[in-house]
Amino acid sequence: KKIAIAIDGPAAAGKSTVAKKVAEKLHYVYIDTGAMYRSLTYKVLQDNIDMKDENAVLNLLKKTNILLDQHFDVYVNNEKITAEIRTSDVTDHVSLIASYPSVREEMVTRQQKLATDRGVVMDGRDIGTRVLPDAEVKVFLIASVEERAKRRHEENVTKHLPSNFEQIKLDIEKRDRMDTERTASPLKKADDAIEIDTTSLSIEDVVNKILSLVQE
Ligand code: C5P
Repeated sequence: KKIAIAIDGPAAAGKSTVAKKVAEKLHYVYIDTGAMYRSLTYKVLQDNIDMKDENAVLNLLKKTNILLDQHFDVYVNNEKITAEIRTSDVTDHVSLIASYPSVREEMVTRQQKLATDRGVVMDGRDIGTRVLPDAEVKVFLIASVEERAKRRHEENVTKHLPSNFEQIKLDIEKRDRMDTERTASPLKKADDAIEIDTTSLSIEDVVNKILSLVQE
C-alpha cells in the first residue's frame, strides 16, 4: 500500500537529501515544500512586491504557478528557477514570507492536492502537524546547529561557492527562531513523529531508519 511520509525539522538538518533517497528507494514522489516558499520569495523580490504587505504577497501567490518536477527542478510560471531559489537573498527573506497565515493556507491547500495520490515523501516544517496530519510515517530530523552549519559549509566549498561557517550558523539560527516563533503552524515535532538526531549518523543510516519504519 502506498503511503505518505512526512519529514520535518529545522533548517539544514538534511531533510531534502534524505527525503529524495527515501523516495527513490520506494519509487515515490518527492515534494520539497520549502522550494514552494522559496519560489514565492524569489517572485516577491523579482517583482519588487512590498514584502511587509501580506495581502500583496498573497495576491502574487494567487497569480503564480509553482511546479516541482521529478528531476528536482523548480519552475514559476514556466521559468526555471532551481538555482535562483537557493541564493542568500531568497534564504534571508523566506521565513518572513512563510510567516503569513494567508500565504500558508494557500500553500497548504496546494501541497495537500499534490499528495492526494499518496506514494509521497514530503519535507518541510509543518507536514506532520498541518499539511498531512494523517501521514502513515512521520519523522522529525534534528542535528546540532554546529553540525548543520558544518554540512552546509562543506557543501558550499565542494560546489566552489563562497562560504563562511560563522555566517551560516547565524543564518540557520535566525531562520529556526523565526520558523519556531511564528503563530501560523510553527516548526514543531508532531506528537506522533519519530525524532531522529542525525548529528552523528550518516545519510545512509538515516535513510535506512526511515525505510525500517515504512516496512513495519
Ligand atoms: O526547507 P527549506 O530550508 O528550503 O525552507 C525554506 C523556508 O521555508 C523555511 O525556513 C521556512 O521559513 C519555510 N517553510 C515553511 N514551511 C514548510 C517548508 C518551508 O514555513 N513546510
